[in-house]
Amino acid sequence: MLTLAIPSRTTGSKLLVWKQDPTVKGLKLQRPVYIHSAIEPGPKDSQIKIMNSEISPDENGDFVGYTNIEDINAVHTFAVARQLLTMYERILNRKLVWGWNTLGGNKPLRIYTNAGCDRAENPLFGSYDREGLIKLYWLEGADNQAIYACQSMDLVAHEVSHAIIDAIKPGWMQAGNREVSAIKESFCDISSMFLFLSQLDLVEFIIANTKGCLYDSNNLSMIAEQFSQIINFGKGIRNALNTKKMDEVDFDRSTYGSSLVLTGAIYNIMADHFMLQRNSRIKDDAYALYQTGQCISRLFTKAICHTNLETASFARIAKNMLYQARAYDDIIVFEIIRQNFIDRKILPAQDPSSTW
Ligand SMILES: [Zn+2]
Repeated sequence: MLTLAIPSRTTGSKLLVWKQDPTVKGLKLQRPVYIHSAIEPGPKDSQIKIMNSEISPDENGDFVGYTNIEDINAVHTFAVARQLLTMYERILNRKLVWGWNTLGGNKPLRIYTNAGCDRAENPLFGSYDREGLIKLYWLEGADNQAIYACQSMDLVAHEVSHAIIDAIKPGWMQAGNREVSAIKESFCDISSMFLFLSQLDLVEFIIANTKGCLYDSNNLSMIAEQFSQIINFGKGIRNALNTKKMDEVDFDRSTYGSSLVLTGAIYNIMADHFMLQRNSRIKDDAYALYQTGQCISRLFTKAICHTNLETASFARIAKNMLYQARAYDDIIVFEIIRQNFIDRKILPAQDPSSTW
């Protein structure tokens, strides 16, 4: 007879986060999320530490009920960083060792949520250094109100993703190759989208607001709406919904501009994949979109893992994604990926290595 060991209780904590950022209509309020792993006062755990905070959980082990904005920001930032790291650890099926610990040591990723506001000196919203320090800035908005970069899920996810790709590809840290830099920036923006699609309530929100059509501008395709409004960048610091092609960008002139080609390709692959596999008659559209996020995040991350520094390029990542789709024996996904990379001129139209 089989004896089932059914756990009798769960551990973990409830935390409050802003889904996206506090200006996004319909998502203004903080929502509770559940983090299954142990969180220490700070908040911190063995991999992530909020530096400018020392708060403790309540008697239930939850990080809720704070009234001070610095405390609220600390909880939100920790939660987003933790969710993102957990998402990649699930995809890779292993605990990530941070890049700065590969030669030994066990230093966590350290994050400052209120690292000053001097726009002349600081980058637009945050910075990451390879020793594992993330600084998220705040700016003065209308009526002298502080606008915190850390309140944006996209911006936190972007900076933490820099640490994640350095952990996945430690050899890429010092690379002077401009295309590798663009891959890294793209990875960080794409990560924000993957994190978005891994959250069931956000997936439902996007379906309700787009009626399931991802080809129009939406909260998923616009990265960091609140900050872009303040710095007059229009809708989102970067928009994944674009038609940029390889022959329209110059890696030497703009890393961010060039990264949009890859980001746009992955966004369109997700949109096409969702449109093809949704079937409202037999399953909820939100569930279909969640599955799209799971599928494409897996293929893209594995493609990055299999890309070597010596040959790293958008085209190599495209080919590695095709290879992954073939390994999963998924001809539909293969064809969606192939077509989108050809459209972006990342792959040539006639390429024997990109046929099924
Ligand atoms: Zn970046």
